[in-house]
Amino acid sequence: MIVARNGGIYPNEDIAKYVTAVGMRLARKTEQANEGWVFTVLDTPTVSAFAQPGGYIYVTRGLLAFVNDEAELASILAHQMVHSLENHFPPTGEEAAAAPDSGLAPDAVLDGLIGGRKDGTFALPPSVRTSGGRPIFSDQMDVVAAIRGVDILTRAGYPGAKSVAFAKRLLAQDTWSRDVDGMGDMMLFGETPLAKADTVAAIELAVRDQVTDISNIDFETPYLSAIRGLVYGDSPARGLIRDGKFIHPELRFSFELPEGFTPEITAGEVIARGPNGAMLVLDTTDQAGERLESYIRDKWAPSLTRSVRSGYLYDLTPNEIGGFDAASGFQPYDDDSGPKVAQLVVIRADKRVYRFRAISAAADFDLSQQMEAAIDTFEEVPVTLAATFKPYWIHVHEIQPGDSVNLFAAAMPMRDGAEAHFRALNGYADGRVPMVGELVKLVME
Ligand SMILES: [Zn+2]
Repeated sequence: MIVARNGGIYPNEDIAKYVTAVGMRLARKTEQANEGWVFTVLDTPTVSAFAQPGGYIYVTRGLLAFVNDEAELASILAHQMVHSLENHFPPTGEEAAAAPDSGLAPDAVLDGLIGGRKDGTFALPPSVRTSGGRPIFSDQMDVVAAIRGVDILTRAGYPGAKSVAFAKRLLAQDTWSRDVDGMGDMMLFGETPLAKADTVAAIELAVRDQVTDISNIDFETPYLSAIRGLVYGDSPARGLIRDGKFIHPELRFSFELPEGFTPEITAGEVIARGPNGAMLVLDTTDQAGERLESYIRDKWAPSLTRSVRSGYLYDLTPNEIGGFDAASGFQPYDDDSGPKVAQLVVIRADKRVYRFRAISAAADFDLSQQMEAAIDTFEEVPVTLAATFKPYWIHVHEIQPGDSVNLFAAAMPMRDGAEAHFRALNGYADGRVPMVGELVKLVME
């Protein structure tokens, strides 16, 4: 279930083997030296890693794209392995029953990568969600993982200093990525910027205590060879964001995102978050039956409002969107932050039924209209056009004389912020100039 919700397993055996080899090199420096570990790469652009009971360690391909060498990868694996070794999992029992995916280490649970109520009831966005099996002393767990992680890392022969630099880069990335499309958010090292900073500070202190450091070993070349061709950002199998549109080349539909909304694509859902808590969510249902209005009135709206105070569904009407049969209604309800309204729209297209719910504060009429206009742009993507959407992928380039950051940025397919992407991916601080012979990662289409 966890795997499915996070894009499934990334289908590349070489990368999986490489990650496992690095993980097992670390495992040999723990009390669980030889077996009991399963390392998995998840097919999601989100930058994250987490542990699950039973020695299951997950890293995302979003994280792998961001990592620059084997020591950085090892630092993340070691941190997650400590969560597993120290049993940093929420208690089972009552709490577990309440949270379907409890039993996960803090990085995942806290950051909402796994959490969320998939039964379709109105849920708070992950950033403000506080339930869901959240461990009480999670921040301290991250500090423990930081300290012991550095110990395992350095005993396995990796330079501790790398993990400090990498953690700082992740922290900088976290702030930056909020404004950039197509690049996953960072979900690691605690929930709040403050908790993340604490974790990074703990890593820094732990590294300072290490006496020896190995800095003359090339950790970069093996890593970059292993991730050559890695898919970067969203993938056609789950839908892509291009030029302000969400496009699903396989299911062959698209719609425009409302201006100023930030999209997030998960395995079964697209969530676009806007100002003032506004949220446009797209998913599908196989429960719709013949009449779409009846589905909204009798099934969907009641299931959504089961656990909140709600008013009557109004303006329930059949209509047509993008040439497809559709129906729409408005469901008022109250949540912690006050009165809300959710426009509920179902569209039957190509045997599938898509559902949009556009949620905004009841007083935010403009936002509600903006989301309604976005839903109205839902349309079929022609086969020929669908075939032109390819995923981005990571190309490893050896720097030649005459190369420059500007040239690299121009070669990358992002419409905006290509240089910032290049610098973030490669850990290039502002003003740093490429040196001939160095390896860098470029995003290609
Ligand atoms: Zn952690």
